[in-house]
Amino acid sequence: MGNQIDIVESMGIPSGGNFRGDCPFCFHKNSFSVSRQDGRLMWYCFFADCSAKGNTIYEPSAQEIFTQARSGYRHASGQDYRHHVSGRVSGYKVPSSFINVRQSDKCVKYLYDNNSYEAYKLDLCDIVYDKSLDRCVFLVKNGSYIEGAVGRALGNFKPKWYMYDSSAYPFICGKGKEGILVEDCPSACVIGAAGLSGVALLGTSIKPSYMDILLGLYESLVVALDRDATNKALDMARELSYYIPTTVRILERDLKHYTVSEAKEILE
Ligand SMILES: [Zn+2]
Repeated sequence: MGNQIDIVESMGIPSGGNFRGDCPFCFHKNSFSVSRQDGRLMWYCFFADCSAKGNTIYEPSAQEIFTQARSGYRHASGQDYRHHVSGRVSGYKVPSSFINVRQSDKCVKYLYDNNSYEAYKLDLCDIVYDKSLDRCVFLVKNGSYIEGAVGRALGNFKPKWYMYDSSAYPFICGKGKEGILVEDCPSACVIGAAGLSGVALLGTSIKPSYMDILLGLYESLVVALDRDATNKALDMARELSYYIPTTVRILERDLKHYTVSEAKEILE
């Protein structure tokens, strides 16, 4: 715990502050929580395979406060810590059964088979393995907050997709001013790895709560569904185009069945 104290103290968490962000020990994204209350500094990492956890009595000296205030701690993600300081630490608690994808050959194979490994490798989204439910889990995020998770069964059991909560947010992979709406998370990963922004609807309709999010993030939308869902795609695009420029792309196959370079060609 000794080394951890130095690192956590150097973060300069203000008194009464809660910070949620990338773990400085295992480098998992957004799994690390630290707070400073009543002269105590407490921290832990949500990932089961990480040993970051502890607390210490901490009252920084006047000099430390001055140095920290002047340097202004910036998180590794590039975001100023002040964005994280709020009464709400997170919308969703990551269960301890979520472990690194690389600890499950089945999970890695699923990602390869669905052309999603590249997005994972490029760190465009957070994917973990749920060892208790045997699922490949895509974390649903709102900026750096984890809002929920969606897990794909890695065997022949139901449901095929499991929602870990009733997240009001869609799963998004990649950045851009144009949002490409697809049915599921691996399809969004293919788009993210192709350098665009993929939004998984987690179904073939738009949840009302997604609207504000989509309008806040994008200047235009593309509904990209496969042939089976043509009518739904057209209906959806018609509805969306009242609010934001929207076009439709009908695909021969689900996007997750295209390689990243094939997807690039199709979507350009
Ligand atoms: Zn950690």
